[in-house]
Amino acid sequence: MTENILDRKDLEKSKMEPIKDGKFSFACHPGVPCFTRCCSDLDLALTPYDVLRLKNRLGISSSDFLDRFTTDQVRHNCGLPMLMLKMKNDSKRTCPFLGPEGCTVYQDRPGACRLYPVARAAKYLGGRVQEQHFLLKESHCLGFQEDREWTDKEWLKDQGLELYNEMNGLWMAINQSGKENNTPPPITDEKIKMYFMACYNLDMFKKFVFESKLLNLFHIDKKTLSQIKSNERELLKFSFRWLQFAIFAKNTMKPKKGVIKPKKRAMGR
Ligand code: SF4
Ligand code: SF4
Repeated sequence: MTENILDRKDLEKSKMEPIKDGKFSFACHPGVPCFTRCCSDLDLALTPYDVLRLKNRLGISSSDFLDRFTTDQVRHNCGLPMLMLKMKNDSKRTCPFLGPEGCTVYQDRPGACRLYPVARAAKYLGGRVQEQHFLLKESHCLGFQEDREWTDKEWLKDQGLELYNEMNGLWMAINQSGKENNTPPPITDEKIKMYFMACYNLDMFKKFVFESKLLNLFHIDKKTLSQIKSNERELLKFSFRWLQFAIFAKNTMKPKKGVIKPKKRAMGR
């Protein structure tokens, strides 16, 4: 299995193959001899939208999810933390969501699990995510011997990836802003904590938004306000806007008169 979002160096090192003639044969179902073999020994990075879907699926708080199912954050090359799923402490490093019948969180499984065995090379260029797809051919995966034929677009649709890609694209734009800062490390520890909270601990971010003075400091239209109160996906989108403003001084929020906008130079160490 691979990360949903790969960079080109990752691709060169892995077992990626182009999708020949735009099609590939593949099927994954309980009848394949390798069923669930790909659900162990993984380095599975979770995106903010993965965390949102999973914590709601499990009916637990964001903090509880982070404590129980994720590892310590590691720093991505642009200085921002990345969250990893904590595998079980058994000999196979099994995914905590694997049950005897397969994936117990199937409807809300992470984007990376949905995408497999397709791999996505995504770049943020000119304000848009540009992507290319490959096949990740691992020897243990026998799904390629099945007859069902797909184009990459058909696969993405079938696996419910459109929403994941939309949310992950917005999130990638923040990471892209991080890469635009030249001298590493570009962000203070305080900003990293804010990034972590707004991306992964949505319950805490909600408190931050509605129980602090934040809403008094910015022009926020009624529609957005109503959406972020009632819809966690909209709240997560709002958190991405907030981070772009607060960490990278982008014009994604409209401060009221007298509110001082963060300065790019002031954010370095
Ligand atoms: S066919 Fe591939 S994706 Fe499906 S269970 Fe087997 S190893 Fe995993
Ligand atoms: S979340 Fe589900 S599909 Fe993904 S690795 Fe775990 S058990 Fe497998």
